[in-house]
Amino acid sequence: MNNPFPAVYLDYAATTPLAPEAREAMEPFGSALYGNPSNLHRFGREARRALDHARDSLSRSLGCQPKELYFTSGGTEADNLALFGIARAHRGRGNHLVVSSIEHHAVLEAAERLEREGFRVTRLPVDSDGRADPDDVTSALTPDTLLVSVMMANNEIGSLGPIEEIGAACRDRGVFFHTDAVQAAGILPIDLSALPVDALSISGHKFYGPKGVGALFVRSGVVFEPVIVGGAQERERRAGTENVAGIMGMARALEVALEHREEEEARLGDLRDRLYHGLQERIDGVLLNGPVSPRLPGNLNVSIEGADAESMLLNLDLAGIAASSGSACSSGAFEPSHVLLAIGATPERALSSLRFSLGRYTTEAEVDRVLQVMPEIVERVRAFVSPELSRR
Ligand SMILES: *Cc1c(COP(=O)(O)O)cnc(C)c1O
Repeated sequence: MNNPFPAVYLDYAATTPLAPEAREAMEPFGSALYGNPSNLHRFGREARRALDHARDSLSRSLGCQPKELYFTSGGTEADNLALFGIARAHRGRGNHLVVSSIEHHAVLEAAERLEREGFRVTRLPVDSDGRADPDDVTSALTPDTLLVSVMMANNEIGSLGPIEEIGAACRDRGVFFHTDAVQAAGILPIDLSALPVDALSISGHKFYGPKGVGALFVRSGVVFEPVIVGGAQERERRAGTENVAGIMGMARALEVALEHREEEEARLGDLRDRLYHGLQERIDGVLLNGPVSPRLPGNLNVSIEGADAESMLLNLDLAGIAASSGSACSSGAFEPSHVLLAIGATPERALSSLRFSLGRYTTEAEVDRVLQVMPEIVERVRAFVSPELSRR
């Protein structure tokens, strides 16, 4: 595909550019079709029709019923709504929650907040591949357990959760199961008619839809409380005038992603392997973080021994290449990623990790450009003793 966005963008796990088809689907709602779906007049009815259309389309894409989808402001809100909504609605039945230790902060911090409200939270360890063991989930369940949340695909290391097994174990014990599928939607097949999950989060901007819009699937019959109140929208589960344009764009973007899903999965896997093997051939001390397989096709996370990630990223940026690291900058110091620490990486290894995430417009030439500049960047960065690495 022709890339209308120059410079080498290898950060598709952070966000993706808007697909032209999605922009087209949004267009009318940024101009002529400005009605509020809650109004009964013709303007409102037009907007309501669009919402219904988007909900039908998304339900077909995900294999669920339209009434099982609740539109949100993105993946973060969907994750928050799943945890707060289900836990608080069922607190009379129990007060125990289980989350994996490599969840996105949208899940981890929601769980922390629930802990402060009196819930007990078990954080499940994962193995060196970033996989939660379904047997560990089963052993963590108590008569008090309400909800388990384990992600479908990890945003940092691309590992895939054994969702079917964990979901089946939860179902056996009558425990609700939520999965964050934000990184999986549009890339891996999702069929909610067969998956044993009670709730699932998606986000538009991770599959070439717009930012600021997402959805939470909640299986019919599963009671949950709203987090945002003040209107009857989304069957009284998420108040606020709907982001009609965003929802239209998200629905269309998922359709487009699924049309080419299988070819794209294979193509990205090949490009990812080319990048990994190329780095290994050219640079000593390249260590893969996360599993060889199964793994998100566009995700490569490697640690480069003795090289500070932030310096490598700055140098890559100067060379016109955008990538990422798992570390978060808090109060001036870079903290090692909780995901890398959870899979057993040392803080040094975690602070030397780069995430390249490939997507729709990534080409072989772009991968080769990275391979061309990386050896020199690593040599330069290794020559300096990084304050971050030496402090530890
Ligand atoms: C990006 C992301 C989120 C947050 O989604 P937003 O729409 O950006 O709020 C949640 N979970 C995972 C795994 C993500 O990658």
